[in-house]
Amino acid sequence: MPATVGVLGLQGGVREHRELLERVGARVVLVRAASDLAGPDGFRVDALVLPGGESSTIDKLLRMFGLFEPLGAAIRSGVPTLATCAGLVLAARQIIDPAPGQQSLGVLDVAVRRNALGPQVDSMETELATTRGRIRAAFIRAPVVTAVGAGVEVIARIGTQVVGVSTPTITGVAFHPELTGDATFHRHLVRAASGEAGARGRGAVLSG
Ligand code: GLN
Repeated sequence: MPATVGVLGLQGGVREHRELLERVGARVVLVRAASDLAGPDGFRVDALVLPGGESSTIDKLLRMFGLFEPLGAAIRSGVPTLATCAGLVLAARQIIDPAPGQQSLGVLDVAVRRNALGPQVDSMETELATTRGRIRAAFIRAPVVTAVGAGVEVIARIGTQVVGVSTPTITGVAFHPELTGDATFHRHLVRAASGEAGARGRGAVLSG
């Protein structure tokens, strides 16, 4: 059974994530309502992607569609999650320089500074060494991670700045692997999701 990956489909780079996930063998569903996430028998998704876009807009839409709490609960309960760029901002415990009234899910114990990679690297594509291998990454008005909590591993840096982190279930990157077609992170997510799909297939009871 292919893993089912839910891509948060409110705003931003949804299509690019979908294409890359399908290329690595996942079934993709768009998450736009709480009912897309969970049904009476547990979660409908084995993994989640929080795409890039504009984090303050995604935050507003999440709250408007009643998805803010359910999405946070799903990630907190351990659904493997890949968060890219604005998705990383959304996942963070603390946002430095938030838009007025902007909230974050607080599921990932890091602080991030929005739009931090100054104008000189406002938008660029580069090769980046990560703990998961060299990847091709695009940065677009990217955040950087300014503080990392216990239990959060740094997986990528650009110069001295932290641009990738992970926990056993969440990977957060300041860049867009989906825009360069680099499937490294998506493959990793689908592997984690396949564990979940297997658990679901065996009738595991998932709470959340
Ligand atoms: N600057 C955007 C934000 O704060 C992120 C940009 C992106 O996702 N490419 O949400």
